Amino acid sequence: MAGPASLFREIHRLRSFAHTLKEQLDRLPRQLKAHHARRDAAQAALNASLNRIKHLKVEVATKEKLLKSKGEMVLRYETQLASIQSLKEYEAKRLEIAFAKTEIGKLEDEILQAMTDGEEETTKIPDLEQALAATKADVTKFEAEITPRRELWQSEMANTLVRLKEIEPGVPKLNRAAYDRTVASMGHDGFACVRQRTCGGCQAELPQQVQNELEDELFVMCRFCGRILYLADK
Ligand SMILES: [Zn+2]
Repeated sequence: MAGPASLFREIHRLRSFAHTLKEQLDRLPRQLKAHHARRDAAQAALNASLNRIKHLKVEVATKEKLLKSKGEMVLRYETQLASIQSLKEYEAKRLEIAFAKTEIGKLEDEILQAMTDGEEETTKIPDLEQALAATKADVTKFEAEITPRRELWQSEMANTLVRLKEIEPGVPKLNRAAYDRTVASMGHDGFACVRQRTCGGCQAELPQQVQNELEDELFVMCRFCGRILYLADK
């Protein structure tokens, strides 16, 4: 049976590796979600811009129609002026014409503004389309990479767990309860390598007695941080 030093060194390595693998595996769905969110936001920005252009076009068309009918109305009223006998009626008609002309001026301004806004909005489209294409490409690339990556990490994880199962029975029966407690509470971080009488976990300087016990291949925990100790590889 391997001595505690090499056993705990190996357990520490395997548990740390398994921990890293788990973090990487857990991160994949979050990363995918973030890629999707960026793509959806780019799509929404493009849609909003296209919608705005569409609404501005409708606004221009509607107001141009109204402008045309107002113009025709003014012409009609002006023709009617000649045949009006009553001064009161004449003045009323002239007022209507003046009012319609004011409305026409206002409509012309609004149409010009809507056309300008539409042109301005249209210049944004190429950038928005490019941004969307880029985020879509990112999603495609990530989705293509994610499967082999996940499979590799899952198989490495399975191998690591098998190896742990093989070697963990090597923990002395006497220390098994302490070992289990440490792993349960600290996980992969429940182990520390000792170099120059210093705990690699909490950096505390350890007494010579601890060093002696480790050299005697005894089960020792750091009295400062509670980690299971092992001597560095010579
Ligand atoms: Zn320590």
